[in-house]
Formats: sequence, C-alpha cells, structure tokens
Amino acid sequence: TRIRPSSKRCAVIGGSGFLGRHLVEKLLEKGYTVTVFDIRQSYDLPGVAFHEGDLCDKQALLKALQDVSLVFHCASPAPASDDRALFQKVNVDGTRTVIQACQESGVQKLVLTSSASVVFEGSDIKDGKEDLPYAEKPIDYYTETKIQQEKLVLEACNKDKGFITVAIRPHGIFGPRDPQLVPILVDTARRGKMKFIIGDGSNLVDFTFVENVVHGHILAAEHLKPDSPLCGKAYHITNDEPVRF
Ligand code: NAD
Repeated sequence: TRIRPSSKRCAVIGGSGFLGRHLVEKLLEKGYTVTVFDIRQSYDLPGVAFHEGDLCDKQALLKALQDVSLVFHCASPAPASDDRALFQKVNVDGTRTVIQACQESGVQKLVLTSSASVVFEGSDIKDGKEDLPYAEKPIDYYTETKIQQEKLVLEACNKDKGFITVAIRPHGIFGPRDPQLVPILVDTARRGKMKFIIGDGSNLVDFTFVENVVHGHILAAEHLKPDSPLCGKAYHITNDEPVRF
C-alpha cells in the first residue's frame, strides 16, 4: 500500500514566476514543504527544492512530484506572446501531462491558476459570477488555451479516484516584483503613449493585489476536500473594489 504523503507537501509549477514566487513564500511561512518546478530558476530560497524542467515532460514532472500531495499549477507562456503553437503546447497539451503526472504520482489535489478572461467576450461585465459561460469568442489565443486548460483540470476532478481539483480566476495581478502590468503602464505613459482614453473615463477594471491572489489559492487548497462543494469548480478572485482606470 502507498503511504499518503503529508498534506503539507506541495509543489508549485511555475514557482519561479511573479505569482508563483509569492505563493511559494506564503506557503513556506505557513509551514508547507515546497518544491518548485519551472523551466527556469529565478531565485534561491532556503527550504525550497528546485526542479528545472518543462511541464510538457512527464518524466521530469514525475521526479519532482514524488511524495507531493498538493500541486499548484501557475505556469504559462507570457500572455503577450504571439506564439500560438507554444500556448497550445504548454497550456493545453502540457496541462494534460501535468494532470497525468499528478495522478500517476498519487497527488491528491490540483489547484489551477486560470484567468477571469475565460468568461470575457469583449463587452462589460459587472458583478460577474462564476455561472457565466465560457467565452464563445475568446479575446485572444492565450485566453482560448486558458479556457481549454481550465476545462481539462476541472473535468479531471474525480473523488472516487482520490484526485480533486479547483481553479482560481484572477484578472490583472499587481504587487511587488510585477514584471508586466504596472511596469508596462508606466513605461507607456513615460513614452507619451497614454494620451487616449477608452470611453468617458469612468471605466472600471478589476486588478487584484498579488497577496490576495495567493490567499485565494491557499484557501482553495485547504478547503478542497472530497466532500466539499469546491470540487471541480472555478472561482473568480478579486479585491473588494475595482480600480478606476
Ligand atoms: P510569469 O510569467 O511571471 O510566471 C509564469 C512562470 O511559468 C514562469 O516562471 C515561467 O518560467 C514558467 N513556465 C512557462 N512555461 C513553462 C513550462 N513549459 N514549464 C515549466 N514552467 C514554465 O506569470 P504570472 O503573472 O506569475 O502568471 C502566473 C499564472 O497566472 C499564469 O497561469 C497566468 O495565466 C495567470 N494569470 C496571470 C495574471 C497576471 O496579471 N499576471 C492574470 C490572470 C491570470
């Protein structure tokens, strides 16, 4: 018989990234044992085991997931990339590989970082709830693959097999070490390219502070149990107030 690993042994796929690193730091603070799996190692932290590898490589994943009971999957190619083949390979085929590797190595819970854009059709959404359907015409190819990725993870949820899943859908994330959102905004403004306005200036956009996104992921992981309503569900995550933009 297999000895079940401690529920505090987790792996963060994409743990070298902006969100991933914040998640790793909070998990350590909360007493988890953390393994990072990423194609690059961007920092060193005592107590963290780093595995450099591509999530499309099942053998590499299997090595990293030994004795792990909880996996956070927050790896993705940069949304701004226009490499369609890469999005398909990593977000869709790679996520399928992650699910298989989790199941083969006895991982019990998988928490996916999805995106709020999976329900966005291009027109305003206010107070949108999780019962909104997936976008039929996603705004870009990145989002198209995030939808497929989320479906794969949620459909893999199977209490009888002892493998349960949940997805968290943040919109824009900001906070310390943000490599994209705020730096790109500031840079565009500095170059004098922010002189246009969409709408009458009262548009609201949902940004979430990275620590709130992390908190949402950990809450989801800790409340994900075979008999809980979270199983196989997606949850939007936001701050209290949207940001005027
Ligand atoms: P990031 O680019 O900082 O981190 C992504 C990490 O994934 C990187 O460290 C990268 O090396 C790793 N990665 C990419 N391809 C990989 C592969 N094939 N194998 C292993 N590792 C790989 O991005 P982030 O902002 O931290 O985003 C994390 C997650 O959150 C992503 O799934 C993204 O879709 C989602 N998300 C981000 C935002 C945002 O505003 N940043 C908003 C909504 C959703």
